[in-house]
Amino acid sequence: MPDKTHIKYILDESEMPKAWYNVVPDLPRPLSPVLHPATKQPVGPDDLAPIFPMALIAQEMSQENYIEIPEPVRQVYAQWRPSPLFRARRLEKMLDTPARIYYKYEGVSPVGSHKPNTAVAQLFYNREEGVRKIATETGAGQWGSSLAMAGAFFGMEIEVFMVKVSYQQKPYRRNMMEAFGATVHASPTDLTNAGRAILAKDPDNMGSLGIAISEAVEVAATHDDTKYSLGSVLNHVLLHQTIIGEEALLQLAKADDYPDVVIGCAGGGSNMAGLILPFVRERLKNGKQIRFLAAEPTACPSMTKGVYAYDYGDTVGMTPIVKMYTLGHDFMPPGIHAGGLRYHGMAPIMSLLHEEGIVDAKAYPQVGVFDAAVQFARAEGIIPAPESAHAIRAAIDEALEAKEAGEERVILFNLSGHGHFDMSAYAQYFAGQLEDYEYPVEAVVEAQHRMPEVDEAAFAAGD
Ligand SMILES: *Cc1c(COP(=O)(O)O)cnc(C)c1O
Repeated sequence: MPDKTHIKYILDESEMPKAWYNVVPDLPRPLSPVLHPATKQPVGPDDLAPIFPMALIAQEMSQENYIEIPEPVRQVYAQWRPSPLFRARRLEKMLDTPARIYYKYEGVSPVGSHKPNTAVAQLFYNREEGVRKIATETGAGQWGSSLAMAGAFFGMEIEVFMVKVSYQQKPYRRNMMEAFGATVHASPTDLTNAGRAILAKDPDNMGSLGIAISEAVEVAATHDDTKYSLGSVLNHVLLHQTIIGEEALLQLAKADDYPDVVIGCAGGGSNMAGLILPFVRERLKNGKQIRFLAAEPTACPSMTKGVYAYDYGDTVGMTPIVKMYTLGHDFMPPGIHAGGLRYHGMAPIMSLLHEEGIVDAKAYPQVGVFDAAVQFARAEGIIPAPESAHAIRAAIDEALEAKEAGEERVILFNLSGHGHFDMSAYAQYFAGQLEDYEYPVEAVVEAQHRMPEVDEAAFAAGD
């Protein structure tokens, strides 16, 4: 029987996982090849070398099941890892549910989210290969802060293209990056061809993640000592995040419990993948019966309303073309408060798992998400990030369903970060100014016409 007294499960240093888990060789079918944006032929390591270090390119394409976490990375992780696994006893009581609710809390990292798990790893490998500077994008500022912190640890210069609307609305995230020594620009800028092209057409453009990615990639591709770094979506990013799920498996064993359903919020898919992929392994290889549920906003419903198609990762069309769930690369996000969930695409690994019916997805409107956030804060004392609150909404709904059905249900979700920099969104919620928004499916149908044309049959798996 699960332990009835504990609320927090941690691990000793000797128990800590020493490797990341790579799900790629265990997937039910191979990932579709990544294609070059100009030639539309599969990319090789040399195509990616201008923007990524070789070690990360190797991880991106790896067929190894486990990749050892380098000792210097584990030393940095040790500052906040293992992140705690909590049993949400007060929330259970508040909901009066027979369900047992557990959450893994990634807000304990110095910048308050899961993102340093990969930022630290990426900078380690870049520095090993003599890279001096990293260009990147950030939306709400969480990725930029993570990379800025890791840059300070590893002595590397960090240049951040921050989506203009966030740059203006979230000055504290910008100041945090500056405190760590990073340079931050409001994107679109006049520093890159990509930015200048957008501004020429629309001088008041408020930016998007897709545009900021175009700018950062351009800087990396045109400077020898500079590489690019992405905080979600790519295989190596999901790989680094699996530390979350590997810890959770060990922590749940201490609780003598096992989840029926594992939940995450999904923007590009990395925090959710980090938690679920080790459990996906348990389902695919060891026959464990576990459901997986991705929670996304109705304003940016990549999996629930998007199409599974080849599309660009950025707005301008500079990045490789990948097969994923997408709303279209020129998606202009409506102004919702879960900035980290406003990306048009979804990690190819998560997309394939959704397409195969292994990962379910549901979309949630933002008012109900903030209702759940506030209920959770009052029960557990943690103010969640608006992104993470989508997972809370899904977890509470599961717990209420279990109550309705009068059944025990074990729910595990990822609390990807805290919301201390998002209080203006809470202020709007308390003032009754938040509105729900459903992204129209017609917009996706229309965007499909602008997606790159790819002769998929030519690259069919196994060819
Ligand atoms: C960036 C971010 C997300 C969304 O990104 P994923 O790659 O989908 O995890 C979710 N939660 C928090 C707290 C974030 O910072």
